[in-house]
Amino acid sequence: MTRPKIFITRFIPDPGLNLVKEHFLPDIWVQDLPPSRTELVELARGVDGLLCLLTDNIDCEVMDAIGPQLKVISNMAVGVDNVDVAAATLRGIPVGNTPGVLTDATADQTFALMLSAARRIVEADRFLKAGKWVTWHPSLLLGADFAGSTLGIIGFGRIGQAVAKRAQGFDMRVLYHSPYAKPAYGAHPVDLDTLLHESDFVSIHVPLKSETKHLVNAEFLSKMKPNAVLVNTARGGVLDQNALHHALKSNQIFAAALDVTDPEPLPMDSSLLELENCIIVPHLGSASKKTRDMMSLLAAQNLVAGLKGERLPNCVNPEVYNALSSRNSIGTM
Ligand code: NAP
Repeated sequence: MTRPKIFITRFIPDPGLNLVKEHFLPDIWVQDLPPSRTELVELARGVDGLLCLLTDNIDCEVMDAIGPQLKVISNMAVGVDNVDVAAATLRGIPVGNTPGVLTDATADQTFALMLSAARRIVEADRFLKAGKWVTWHPSLLLGADFAGSTLGIIGFGRIGQAVAKRAQGFDMRVLYHSPYAKPAYGAHPVDLDTLLHESDFVSIHVPLKSETKHLVNAEFLSKMKPNAVLVNTARGGVLDQNALHHALKSNQIFAAALDVTDPEPLPMDSSLLELENCIIVPHLGSASKKTRDMMSLLAAQNLVAGLKGERLPNCVNPEVYNALSSRNSIGTM
């Protein structure tokens, strides 16, 4: 039997890398910047397994260039908006992701951003370091309260619910909008308009897909309260950044905090960077050592399972297995 060929698009943390190396001899992209599309296609051509990151756009052209022998695409992220999952399914390729292990870290980051934007932590730090702190003043850098306020969560899945769990400790009333999710952690389901009209904090936790692209647009923002804080730790494409700039600049809402932008990295001439009431950090939702170790392990487990012809432990398109088993049973008839 020939040895499977594998391409990993960046150095991933040891737990995952070691697991892959126990079974196979992978080719690894060792540079800090991701491979360009041309480099990716060139290096991945002919591989049986691909382990990629959210910085790699794996569309149908890339899949076709890699070739029909491709058995598994393992994405080291829970979101798979960088992979054309429908195209992979059509080609019978299972796509793996890393759900669950990053839920707490991302919910923590959401709360850190929500607190920072509400209590103007970044602005206050800049203020002090610029030598502007001359005295304690009753109205210096006043922010928003958490206790007794209402938090609206859009997308009540794993991370949305972990945010609701944290909000209980802050004595917040929690509303959510997520068509099929059951209530949890004292949160109440409401329609989107009610959530926007009643929430002092709005936090976004939906996956990026065609229906959620620019979900946060001018109309959405116009329905929010003037004291409201918006937090996005989902994906940059869910939010129309021009509309957000206008809403923040005109004080239509109080503040925003973004973990994710579109594009990434955010160009240094982005108008959002000039706003004091907008915190932006470089996509760090899952950025804790333990979480990244676990993500690499899950991604490696998916890759190894796919190469061995086993079901991926975390597969976003399990329907490929139905198609495969019906193809096999037709073959044995
Ligand atoms: P999840 O468990 O699948 O939760 C997503 C929830 O959003 C599901 O309940 C889903 O409902 C709901 N939803 C889908 N479309 C919606 C819509 N149009 N309106 C309202 N709700 C909608 O996923 P998760 O693990 O919580 O992760 C959520 C997202 O966070 C990921 O897709 C990823 O993009 C992002 N993320 C970012 C970071 C970061 O580093 N910043 C880290 C981790 C994850 P259904 O299940 O019924 O479709």
